[in-house]
Amino acid sequence: MTKAGKRCLVIDKRDHIGGNVYTEDVDGIQVHKYGAHIFHTDDEKVWKYVNRMVKFNHYINSPVAIYKDEIYNLPFNMNTFSRMWGLKKPQEVRDKIDSQIAELHITEPKNLEEQALSLVGPDVYEKLIKGYTQKQWGRECRDLPAFIIQRLPLRFTYDNNYFNDRFQGIPIGGYTGLVEKLLENIDVMTDTDFFEYRKEHPDMYDRVLYTGMIDEYFDFCYGHLEYRSVRFETERVEEPNYQGNAVVNYTDQEVPYTRVIEHKHFAPEAEQENPKDYTIISREYSEEGHPGMEPYYPVNDEKNNALYEKYRELADREENVLFGGRLGSYQYYDMDKVIAAAIELARQERARYADKTVQKKETNALKQGTQENKCSRSGD
Ligand code: UDP
Repeated sequence: MTKAGKRCLVIDKRDHIGGNVYTEDVDGIQVHKYGAHIFHTDDEKVWKYVNRMVKFNHYINSPVAIYKDEIYNLPFNMNTFSRMWGLKKPQEVRDKIDSQIAELHITEPKNLEEQALSLVGPDVYEKLIKGYTQKQWGRECRDLPAFIIQRLPLRFTYDNNYFNDRFQGIPIGGYTGLVEKLLENIDVMTDTDFFEYRKEHPDMYDRVLYTGMIDEYFDFCYGHLEYRSVRFETERVEEPNYQGNAVVNYTDQEVPYTRVIEHKHFAPEAEQENPKDYTIISREYSEEGHPGMEPYYPVNDEKNNALYEKYRELADREENVLFGGRLGSYQYYDMDKVIAAAIELARQERARYADKTVQKKETNALKQGTQENKCSRSGD
């Protein structure tokens, strides 16, 4: 929009830019403050877009899963299956999974448990999915939507790449550099509450793109949408290599955290250039979101999706305010999908501004204020 001649202001209530992709230099290591972010996309347009901002390294995500005293490669592939069953050939593995699945008689998976079982059978489900998923979502697998597990590839090759996408990597020097570049020539106010700011400056903008929680925008008038939150326990450890991998998942129920991230392994190029005899790790604890906690994952079950639809209707009626991002659209979006949606939105906005009559109408609408569409607290 800046390129299209608009003046843009970015407001963030945190004391830094970048939202959840923010990375912080801690003793020379880029720490992913709000959890591991691994950029991957199959969309060439998005890949080119981010590469205009910053160079990416060749990081390929290959997480490891620890279940009690057993260790497996992820995603589910021949390395996982050969370790689990001592089988070597893909056909043997297919036969094994097929025979396990046949006994279950699931025709149409209705939830995450049935989806997982009918995809990989009970052995893999019990060891690598059930515990992790229940910790991650704080809900039984049979109470979760099937689509969550469809994110994970299932392969009959010896390939530990977590993603099927053609393009993958981490920005060299961290994500904050990417966001700084993105915000060039744009006004930025951190430590600022959007709602307060708008109250004080109601006439300062033509259009707003709101990326906070959509339910908060409408004062939770229909009730709260549910979010999962994450608590990170970050620690400097005085050894050069703590776990040998950037991401290690703990898939049993007994270990209270879901995964441990070792940040330096996201940037092997930095370690090569400047080897360190210490490392920084983060243990990730998944928690139910409560007011005041950071919302991370929308819980896209039927109940919440129905509630979201009610907010969506209000949002559609809200003049001159656009809603975007994971929280603004209550979707379990990956970074590349958010960027693709933003590029498309910007295209629509530019087309809209090209039509001069729209500008006139907007100015008039603004004068009437944007608050009228809020639903009443009694819930209309
Ligand atoms: N999952 C699992 N075991 C694992 C890793 C993931 O069962 O070791 C499931 C789990 O239900 C999780 C989903 O796959 O919510 C998606 O995982 P992903 O790693 O894509 O989630 P994110 O990185 O977005 O937290």
